[in-house]
Amino acid sequence: MSASRPRAALRIGGLTPLSLSDWPGQLAAVVFCQGCPWRCGYCHNPHLIPPRAVTSLEWNDVLAFLERRRGLLDAVVFSGGEPTLQAGITRALRQVKALGFKLGLHTAGAYPRRLVELLPGLDWVAMDIKASFADYAATTGVADSGAPALESVRLILASGIAYEFRTTVHPDLLPAAALPALAGSLARLGVRHYALQEFRPQGCASHALNASGTSPYLSDAALTGTIAPLFDSFCVRQS
Ligand code: SF4
Repeated sequence: MSASRPRAALRIGGLTPLSLSDWPGQLAAVVFCQGCPWRCGYCHNPHLIPPRAVTSLEWNDVLAFLERRRGLLDAVVFSGGEPTLQAGITRALRQVKALGFKLGLHTAGAYPRRLVELLPGLDWVAMDIKASFADYAATTGVADSGAPALESVRLILASGIAYEFRTTVHPDLLPAAALPALAGSLARLGVRHYALQEFRPQGCASHALNASGTSPYLSDAALTGTIAPLFDSFCVRQS
């Protein structure tokens, strides 16, 4: 490991050397950034939430790993945590782009002002939509978190970059009756690519959500059949 961490270097909570699913269609390494301002009960990476948690991986070591993967991987996805929380993300993206990789970003849209600076250098963005924007706090645990998320949706759509918006569905947080209205509001904003994904208990620290965490209505063809026509591409991901 590196002896010292340069000022403003990206704080890293984990690294997946190869993923086929974090950016569909791409062979990607996934860099998990430390820190998130929100507190979603269903978070399956809760260890990545504290921004100042002690981490064992240094950005320079990740960069050295990626240099060795040139020609073997298509892309690098920055995930989290919330990658846009850290000022160091800007330089990190530039460094990875210089190695010749395509750049993907997973975000919840908490920091639209940083996101808009990053968008021109990205090749793909996947953004979580937690709930209707007025109801975000019930999922994130943070008041007024829907406003920056809505701004981020608008910025991504205006950027022209390839994207996916997706919603993790837990029955306690997003019942079946809420899904068509949520999907309709996204379609009216101009979203063309959308996915619903089933809550996964792996890593989730909430016993209550783990105990009630199945959403059989995601298999309801009548329900998903009302949502699919709203988008150019739509899918349901179940475990
Ligand atoms: S926004 Fe993502 S990383 Fe942050 S708490 Fe919610 S699920 Fe976890």
